[in-house]
Amino acid sequence: MGALSWKVMVAKSIAQRFIRKLLAWYARAARDLPWRKTRDPYRVAVSEFMLQQTQVARVLEFYPRFLKRFPTLEKLARARPKAVREAWDGLGYYARASNLHALARQVARRHDGTLPATPQELEKLPGVGPYTAGAIASFSFEKAVPAVDTNVARVIRRVFLGQRVTGNVQRVWRLASMLVPKDGKRAWRFNQALMELGALICVARKPRCGECPVQPHCKTGRRLVKTLRRSASWRLFERRPRNQRNNPQ
Ligand code: SF4
Repeated sequence: MGALSWKVMVAKSIAQRFIRKLLAWYARAARDLPWRKTRDPYRVAVSEFMLQQTQVARVLEFYPRFLKRFPTLEKLARARPKAVREAWDGLGYYARASNLHALARQVARRHDGTLPATPQELEKLPGVGPYTAGAIASFSFEKAVPAVDTNVARVIRRVFLGQRVTGNVQRVWRLASMLVPKDGKRAWRFNQALMELGALICVARKPRCGECPVQPHCKTGRRLVKTLRRSASWRLFERRPRNQRNNPQ
């Protein structure tokens, strides 16, 4: 076997172990969020628009309220801009509300009220960039496509590139495309799990490598834990029961 194919095999096996650990952790630790219980493209789209630049806790307040007022895409498409703005009031970044409204109108007019299923078609809609297109395609239609937001990009960089810095956007998307499972249901869980890891464990400022399920497969985590193991705080951390561990850094 040539050196190149050997390297490819090793990389594949690391990726598979990473995915298995990530999915097992997600099954145990995922938050119970209302938009994870639906495959309705409209409801998924509303959650994705709301979650842009807004904390989950805040969206949890507004999401049910907005859907009560506009339970379907048709209702939203027919609404006056003032009513949409009122339902969004308090969530901020109102451009998202008008984009969502414009999206509903366009889908009602040109797509018979049904959101398209592919990222390529979704990206043609108002307010939909590559991430939102991937998220709607994966979370509604269970398409085996990547959805790379800031959290996911951070996790991929740290795990596979060993970098803390930003940049390399295209490389991160390529890696995400290679990693995403071919089966749509598994791809749904994988995308959700990557986001969850970035939101709960691999956080921006102080990654919690000591309690991270993929740490053995992570370039950054292995380096950070190696450094930490030499410290007294790590020894204290390891003496604590698992459920009482906070990041030792
Ligand atoms: S080991 Fe650390 S850097 Fe790597 S994914 Fe986990 S929390 Fe992030």
